Amino acid sequence: MVWEAWRIVLNKKMKHQYKVIIIGSGFGGQLAAINLVKEGISDFFILERRDYMGGTWCQNVYPGAAVDVPSPLYALSYEPFDWTQMYAEQDELSRYTNFIIEKYKLREKTATSQVVTKIHWSELDQVWTIEVAGKAAFRAQFVINATGPLSTPVIPSFKGRDSFKGKSFHSNNWDTSYDYKNKRVAVIGSGASAAQIIPAIASQVAHLSVFQRAAHWVMPRNDYVFKAWQRAILRNKWGYKILRVLIYCSLEYRLIGFKYSQKLLNIIGRGDAQRLIRKHIKDPELQKKVTPDFAFGCKRVILSDTLFKAYCRDNVSLYDKTNAIKKMTEKGIVTADDVEHELDLIVYSTGYDATDGIISYPVVGRGEATLAKVWEDYPRGYLGTMVPSFPNLFIVTGPNTGVGHTSALVLIESQMIYIMKCFRNLTQFNKKVIEVKASAEEKYTNHIHEEMKRTVWHTGGCNSWYKSKSGKIIAMFPGFSFTFRRWAKNFKAKNHNFF
Ligand SMILES: Cc1cc2nc3c(=O)[nH]c(=O)nc-3n(C[C@H](O)[C@H](O)[C@H](O)COP(=O)(O)OP(=O)(O)OC[C@H]3O[C@@H](n4cnc5c(N)ncnc54)[C@H](O)[C@@H]3O)c2cc1C
Repeated sequence: MVWEAWRIVLNKKMKHQYKVIIIGSGFGGQLAAINLVKEGISDFFILERRDYMGGTWCQNVYPGAAVDVPSPLYALSYEPFDWTQMYAEQDELSRYTNFIIEKYKLREKTATSQVVTKIHWSELDQVWTIEVAGKAAFRAQFVINATGPLSTPVIPSFKGRDSFKGKSFHSNNWDTSYDYKNKRVAVIGSGASAAQIIPAIASQVAHLSVFQRAAHWVMPRNDYVFKAWQRAILRNKWGYKILRVLIYCSLEYRLIGFKYSQKLLNIIGRGDAQRLIRKHIKDPELQKKVTPDFAFGCKRVILSDTLFKAYCRDNVSLYDKTNAIKKMTEKGIVTADDVEHELDLIVYSTGYDATDGIISYPVVGRGEATLAKVWEDYPRGYLGTMVPSFPNLFIVTGPNTGVGHTSALVLIESQMIYIMKCFRNLTQFNKKVIEVKASAEEKYTNHIHEEMKRTVWHTGGCNSWYKSKSGKIIAMFPGFSFTFRRWAKNFKAKNHNFF
């Protein structure tokens, strides 16, 4: 208690206490800020660990980076943009991100180069202390964590990894100053980012070695450059809305396949994916290597018209698990057959900690409860947003809020509806603290994992980044996105404690 009182004195010497601190400046953080302003809350501040704002599309500058959801839907529902093509590329997505940041004047509400290292709830003064590496701490009544599901890269600890003397980086930290042309390059991984990088660089490098742990199902991308009259529709508020609804409906029905019917998934996906392999690859050995041994949809489906063509190039070699990476050396990679592949560049396209590491820093809540302990079995949260014992903390893109069939922004906007309802109820009840009840969270989580049992992510026979170490699917929401929105809108005060 003495320590707690002393901490309050120390805290008071810290910076201004904000009503809300938002951690992360991607679309999640931006949407939180925009919604707070709409709610009449201006006393908030955004902390961003990079030295620039924007999140995913300002960070991922690797060759070929592009969205795989039609751009009009991968946008804020009320902020139209005259996209040049159906699946926007990184530079356009970055331009859109910066357009939102400028329009809502978010730059002046943000501090960059602020790596949050810990947050701690003080029961006595009912505020969060937000610790930042090498800087003074912040204090806030509420914290909105928007640190992103795919933001903290993971690089497996290959034997001898540090001995490699050439250049190496994760796809998330692509070094644009490095000239990869005419170099001997390895891409480790064959997921969504690798599938964009490989065809983008294959024709420019001396040799490209791709190390694939598991093949992915690939569907035709069928990208489309918008004509001038179509862009005129995109500029029109109502035209944009109608197009969004059409795209939304055309994607949403896929959930029926993911959840209820592998037969439907096979009709709408697997057949096309198998035809794509046969169309672009004639070599039966290579066909076999790129054909997954699990159900269509179990892992994120890749959209590409160019990946298989790249695999067929003379200067590209694909290594699968039959000839996997054994170790790394000064010169390159040694495969299981003891052949050393000399390299100039290794690109780690090895993904993110999207489940057990959803939050990139320690969180200490009521009664010194740590989120690490609470999530020891697996990450969980009411509407993926609130966790018992962690009052006034909202987690954007928290456990089980991901979607494979539509835009992540649809779910994030729904989370905002719930978060803003929490603020409104606090005002209505004239209270300062909101915490979800453990019973409500437990009922919700049990329901989610019961529903999950029917999905292809659970039954499809694959090991994917959707799964936590517990084996439970954590990254995905097992239902229609409109179901999540309905639950978010239908705020139940009785499921929360107000203090
Ligand atoms: C390459 C790639 C392609 C994708 N493609 C699609 C797609 O096609 N469709 C789709 O729906 N989704 C896609 N996604 C998912 C994407 O993450 C979401 O669509 C969306 O951008 C998430 O926004 P966010 O704000 O939650 O996270 P992010 O955009 O990742 O932003 C999180 C921010 O938090 C910051 N941060 C993290 N930790 C800290 C800390 N400790 N302190 C301070 N700041 C911190 C990060 O630096 C980052 O700026 C893709 C993701 C990646 C990486």
